[in-house]
Amino acid sequence: MAETIFDKIIRREIPADIVYEDDLSLAFRDINPQAPVHLLIIPKKPIATINDIATDDRELVGHLFYVARTLAADMGFAEEGYRVVMNCNEQAGQTVFHIHLHLLAGKPLGWPPYTERMKQG
Ligand code: AMP
Repeated sequence: MAETIFDKIIRREIPADIVYEDDLSLAFRDINPQAPVHLLIIPKKPIATINDIATDDRELVGHLFYVARTLAADMGFAEEGYRVVMNCNEQAGQTVFHIHLHLLAGKPLGWPPYTERMKQG
């Protein structure tokens, strides 16, 4: 698959505000935050989209969620609440084709994302 900016962040070729790393994953602050806390949790293995997750990747993808809940606990917003989102392909808003969990916290988060006003538009 094509290289993405996230490969460069993993290799430290471009700067990022990294908050967590282990042998399988990396978490850093989103450059364009949509909430007071907006982290991206990525596997070091490049997987382009959810559609490309292979049988052998199931444990790795579960690990990303484990990192999310651990960061939520360590950063102190686990009880207050947070959102974990992964976009798949253009219509869902995916712009970087290396899977990543968005972890959003620190303010009331609207739901559902597809509002009545959007349906009318
Ligand atoms: P998505 O639209 O779901 O593919 O999310 C990609 C996210 O990556 C967006 O929220 C961007 O703001 C974020 N992003 C892109 N480039 C960088 C970067 N260099 N450092 C941190 N976040 C980035």
